[in-house]
Amino acid sequence: MIVDNPFVNSTPGTNVYVTKGPDAYDNTQRALRAMPLSGLKGLRVLLKPNIGRSARPGAAVTTNPAVIAAAIDVFREAGAIVAIGESPIIGVDLEEAYRICGVTKIAQARKCPLIDMDKRSFVERSIPNGKVIKTLQICEDIDDFDVVVSIPIMKMHMHTHVTLSIKNMKGCLWRRSKVKLHMLPPVEGDDNKPINIAIADMSSVLRPHLAIIDGSVGMEGLGPSAGTPKELGVVVVSADPFAADSVACELMGTSAKETPHLAIAGQRGYGVIDIDAITIHPSHWRDWIKPFDRPPNNLEIEFPNITVLDKNSCSACQSTLLLFLKKYADQLLDYFPNQKHVHIAIGKGHDHVPDKTLCIGNCMLNQEGRGVFVHGCPPVASEILKALTDTVNDCR
Ligand code: SF4
Repeated sequence: MIVDNPFVNSTPGTNVYVTKGPDAYDNTQRALRAMPLSGLKGLRVLLKPNIGRSARPGAAVTTNPAVIAAAIDVFREAGAIVAIGESPIIGVDLEEAYRICGVTKIAQARKCPLIDMDKRSFVERSIPNGKVIKTLQICEDIDDFDVVVSIPIMKMHMHTHVTLSIKNMKGCLWRRSKVKLHMLPPVEGDDNKPINIAIADMSSVLRPHLAIIDGSVGMEGLGPSAGTPKELGVVVVSADPFAADSVACELMGTSAKETPHLAIAGQRGYGVIDIDAITIHPSHWRDWIKPFDRPPNNLEIEFPNITVLDKNSCSACQSTLLLFLKKYADQLLDYFPNQKHVHIAIGKGHDHVPDKTLCIGNCMLNQEGRGVFVHGCPPVASEILKALTDTVNDCR
């Protein structure tokens, strides 16, 4: 990657551009054309959308393909050589995810390469100022490009409050090394969740040159995968990804200061998160704020027939469980005949769980035999359903 950022121009201050309208392609083109593009001639540009999961367009899980298409067209017009790359979450078939979310179609129409960044190896990068992580395994493909552009979709997130352009860079970490960020022990004397400190650490060495935040249809509530689509019709662009994330937070009715990984990074001086220190175009951008529902703090309110026994679980296990509950909570009692309530246990160090508990993840191995057990570290949501179905079938 090059050090000089071709998107930084002589306009003083930290600038963020917001566009709004019914057409995500048009919004993206208009926002990008506000940026200096002449420096892109001959540069290799990697577009890093959020295609971490398989989901259809409109489900608000993955980046809108129209936003990616507009970025390809604008950057190519400026003379850049463009490709799209991703390293999805464990268990996701990226070829299928690209196809289902609509990215294959727009890439093929433009003969734009689609890269599975897990196919090759990794480069180890040290984090001199890292608090909870000292090295990262970064997909080798990143070093083939001069410029990296983070193109997340606006989503609330159960563990990191929101997921935007800084958090989206986690999808440049190689294969399973991403999961390590979810499995860190608490830091003594620091109330922040280790995942949030780790993302701030990561952002000190893995930072995009440009953020294009897709707020056409975002996700509120139980994000990043089990929430509800929220139509906003905006795109946010900036050469300072922290500033872009900060503005996106405001549009979602929250703030960077409430988002621990951004707050930590801002305190460390990695970028500008103070909304009053950012020049936001146009000046009436606040008219477009549409507050997103926050992720629930208490799952038992959301799922009244279920008690979650959580002891020191990683956010990876929590995400799997949430995704499962969002899809199947209504049917869960069908797998536990004669019960009005189901216990689910995740995490490390459970000495004893009630009989017939649904025990999820390898950390629960010591309780195998007390109920239904689901292997995996982290387990995947489809395996939970499979384990339940197998158990019912075995009882017949
Ligand atoms: S099983 Fe779950 S809680 Fe245990 S280490 Fe794996 S992801 Fe973390």
